[in-house]
Amino acid sequence: MAEKILVVEDDPSILRGLQLNLGMEGYAVRSAMDGETGLSLARTEKPDLILLDVGLPRLSGLDFIRALRAEDPEVPILVVSAKGQEADKVSGLSLGADDYIVKPFALKELLARIAAALRRRRARGETGEQRNVKKAGNLVLDLDARRATIEGREVELTSREFDLLSFFVTHPGRVYTREQLTAAVWGQGYSGTGRTVDNFVVRLRQHIGDDADRPRYLETVRGLGYRFTP
Ligand code: CA
Repeated sequence: MAEKILVVEDDPSILRGLQLNLGMEGYAVRSAMDGETGLSLARTEKPDLILLDVGLPRLSGLDFIRALRAEDPEVPILVVSAKGQEADKVSGLSLGADDYIVKPFALKELLARIAAALRRRRARGETGEQRNVKKAGNLVLDLDARRATIEGREVELTSREFDLLSFFVTHPGRVYTREQLTAAVWGQGYSGTGRTVDNFVVRLRQHIGDDADRPRYLETVRGLGYRFTP
């Protein structure tokens, strides 16, 4: 299967050029022209690599890396920035970008960097290094494969249910308001209500066999929100 690259770039002509050339290289290309859309595509599409412009509307490239790295420490991120923005390079790399390239870049060099990052990723996957698995009681989440099991049984979750559950599992012991959960899982631009979160919590409890009256994992903190107890 073709490896999937997400391109987040707000300059339409650069974006078109990248889509064309990456497509010709045999990659499956997804694209977004602002940071927020890019972040939600990164969550839903699970690309093999992200090519990320730093100067983006709605959510900067650096904020994008910060948000995504909290959830996915693995996916290679290659940062693209305008010439002379050396500070971006340092910030980008320290936030967890894998590589950095300055505009205007030579297409050949960009393609070589992409191929190298994908090779490193495959090598990691083959050795099973840094597999991102979280355990909480009888609940096990494989954050890379996006699979959840409880007492060894596979739990069938939708993508959003998995996102919410993995947020809880990776942020245990703290109370989160419905607004905070909405922002973390659905993104800042989402206009739903706290009731959406309530509905998802009800469903998650059903999926993991948590008793709503005496929950073992997903506790309702009255007047505040929810807390996950591992
Ligand atoms: Ca830009």
